[in-house]
Amino acid sequence: AQAGGPGASQVPRYVRINTLKTCVDDVIDFFKREGYSYLGKAASVEELRALSGKKFLLDLHLPELLVFPPQTDFHDNLLYTSGHIILQDKASCLPAFLLSPAAGSHVIDACAAPGNKTSHLAAILKNKGQIFAFDMDAKRLATMNTMLMRAGVTGFQLAQQDFLMVDPGDPKYSKVAYILLDPSCSGSGMVNRVPTAEAAPSAERLQALAGFQRKVLSHALSFPALQRLVYSTCSLHREENEDVVGAVLQERGSAFRLVHAFPCWPCRGLAAFPGAESCLRASAADTLTHGFFVAVLERRGDGAAASS
Ligand code: SAM
Repeated sequence: AQAGGPGASQVPRYVRINTLKTCVDDVIDFFKREGYSYLGKAASVEELRALSGKKFLLDLHLPELLVFPPQTDFHDNLLYTSGHIILQDKASCLPAFLLSPAAGSHVIDACAAPGNKTSHLAAILKNKGQIFAFDMDAKRLATMNTMLMRAGVTGFQLAQQDFLMVDPGDPKYSKVAYILLDPSCSGSGMVNRVPTAEAAPSAERLQALAGFQRKVLSHALSFPALQRLVYSTCSLHREENEDVVGAVLQERGSAFRLVHAFPCWPCRGLAAFPGAESCLRASAADTLTHGFFVAVLERRGDGAAASS
């Protein structure tokens, strides 16, 4: 494969509007003043694929996402440096969007750094509620802290901690109804990655990653007040995706079910077990995004949160 990875040149520049600081109309007006032409809301992925020059669209699937031609660079743009926009791939916006915690709720972001999904959760919560965010990597947590401050996120607690060591019985977490779990993975879906051994992980590495992912998913499901959980990876490997979800659901018996999330999303889970098509997949070829996997799990019974 060539440097830049297959598909890198065709993935648009996605811009998530940070609704903690601004709104869709104001950001659209800003870019119009910068000389971009706004073409309205896209009706198809093909429209996104056809974007070129100084034109942009509102995404067809996600409400607060603008789409610019590939390779558009906004890292020096005032809206980015001031935290009004977040440069985040469309697929990576799916987990918080599908978790959709109600304002005021308690949420865990289990493997959180560098925090794009945490800031998205805070925007959905309208900064009302509590986010407990964990990561083991001190450097990534420092970056995350700066990013969350810049994005105007409040009501969060960051901890440098192994999520597997977080006690689900601790009264501090007794109201946690939502968990976003985006654990370390092979990263095989990242289209910009220069090909390395990681892009084609060995069977042993995949097995080790899948073992960790199963453990951490099972641990997350043991929080007593949990209603809804989103599991995501930027891996294309079934071993880290459908196989993890299938194994943990089986181990947990009938306590949780897989939600048929986002029915309008065109790319579904591989048929690894009955119902696996309820999961979502994403790829440069099919959805014009990085390769990604998302599963939404919900507790069965009277207290279950509304399905998407
Ligand atoms: N959710 C993040 C975002 O959207 O910005 C990206 C998370 S990245 C895919 C996975 C993260 O999990 C890494 O930052 C890694 O340090 C962290 N991690 C790995 N093992 C962990 C563990 N046992 N507990 C908590 N975090 C862990």
